[in-house]
Amino acid sequence: MTQASLFGPAQAGKGQQVCRFRPGFEAWQPAARRLLAQGIAPQDVWWQPDSQAPVDDDAPAPPAPRVPRVFLDMARAASCHSQPDRWALLYSLLWRLTHGERHLMQLGGDAQIVRLTAYVKAVRRDVHKMKAFVRFRAVTENDGQTRYVAWFEPAHFIVEYAAGFFSRRFSNMRWSILTPLGCAHWEGADAGGLWFSAPVDRGAAPDGDALEDAWQVYYRSIFNPARVKVRAMQSEMPRKYWKNLPEARLIPQLLREADRRVSTMQARPASEERLHCGPRPDSPGETLARATASAGDALSALALRAQACRGCPLWEPATQTVFGEGPARARIMLVGEQPGDQEDLAGRPFVGPAGELLDRALAAAGLDRGQLYVTNAVKHFKFEPRGKRRIHAKPSARDIAACRPWVEAELRAVDPAIVVCLGLSAGLAMLDRPLTLNRSRGQWIEQDARQYLLTAHPAYLLRLPDRRRRQVEYDRFVSELALAAQAA
Ligand code: SF4
Repeated sequence: MTQASLFGPAQAGKGQQVCRFRPGFEAWQPAARRLLAQGIAPQDVWWQPDSQAPVDDDAPAPPAPRVPRVFLDMARAASCHSQPDRWALLYSLLWRLTHGERHLMQLGGDAQIVRLTAYVKAVRRDVHKMKAFVRFRAVTENDGQTRYVAWFEPAHFIVEYAAGFFSRRFSNMRWSILTPLGCAHWEGADAGGLWFSAPVDRGAAPDGDALEDAWQVYYRSIFNPARVKVRAMQSEMPRKYWKNLPEARLIPQLLREADRRVSTMQARPASEERLHCGPRPDSPGETLARATASAGDALSALALRAQACRGCPLWEPATQTVFGEGPARARIMLVGEQPGDQEDLAGRPFVGPAGELLDRALAAAGLDRGQLYVTNAVKHFKFEPRGKRRIHAKPSARDIAACRPWVEAELRAVDPAIVVCLGLSAGLAMLDRPLTLNRSRGQWIEQDARQYLLTAHPAYLLRLPDRRRRQVEYDRFVSELALAAQAA
């Protein structure tokens, strides 16, 4: 089937209606709904994305057609593809879904569905690469504040689509991601949030910064010469991205050294420490001492440095370091035990079932999570693999001690008046005294001019098998959080 038969002629044909709209799914959607309401068939429309097209805010909102959720999700992703025919494809699919082909999305062999799927896959692959290969560099702005600026070259128009991930992941930093297909900027949740600007050239982005050495140390420390598979590495990290990756400059040398390093490793007696631990790129204290501009800068620098931490064996099987998040000057800091399975994948604390319960309890206690700094005593997920599942394993006193410099650095940077320890492990990490949950729970403890409150970990509440007991414990949990709310 030719493209013309699928999507109509390659340019506006005689009698075709030209639909000008601002490029992007948000503008295409109402335009498509309007044409649909007027009964204009796909072959009678010529889609013309135009950044100068007028914004028709006063036009009555066209009715929303009933289409499967999966179509909307896929259409939103496919709209970022660089193929100009994507708009015609989306309208054609929309037309068919609303004209007797309600089950179209289930026809995996349909030519248009095949094309839609290919577009979605290409866009998601591009987003994945952007998440993996964006490298921020610190730039001091005119107001003396630090902005982290990255350069990336996407294959598709994914900047707006992917920006939400970065605003959640780096909510404490002011950052900009510059690309030749548009730029995204984050000013912080309280200072304008996310905004977008026109494409720029490579020259607009910095080439290096003081963090460059940290990335190099990080990459050197995770590069395992015994596991290197050059083809697999190049397929995961294609060469076209290398020029913008500071660590990639090390790759040729690391590959040259790989055989010699493997021989040295084999000749060395195996010990768990030697095999699995490595240096921290900098001590958290040193990082904190250098980041003087603001608490937000200090936290951003700490979060970046912690990504490279190899201070105990937990880093190796985990996906990533899960650092704390929240306002740099929060009055209350919540400290949990360690990230769970979902936190490990998302890279954010308390986003799994325990996080949902925590959010509910905070709201019931009159606390807004957005106003709290939330972190864990241990920054990597400790688990035991069981088949395909990863079962949470309690961090040992040694794990907690190894990670303590990070949580202490967060404490110094945020400087909260109140620290709520969620569970005994968090209490032991933060307080220099013997504790038991039964005796110390719900009591204020003063240490270093700060108030500490020990309460249960939300995961403990989720594990209670008895419903009534769970409710009693939940109510107690809320009342203890309420103590912190009142004190703050
Ligand atoms: S758990 Fe803490 S000390 Fe261990 S590697 Fe992770 S960040 Fe470093």
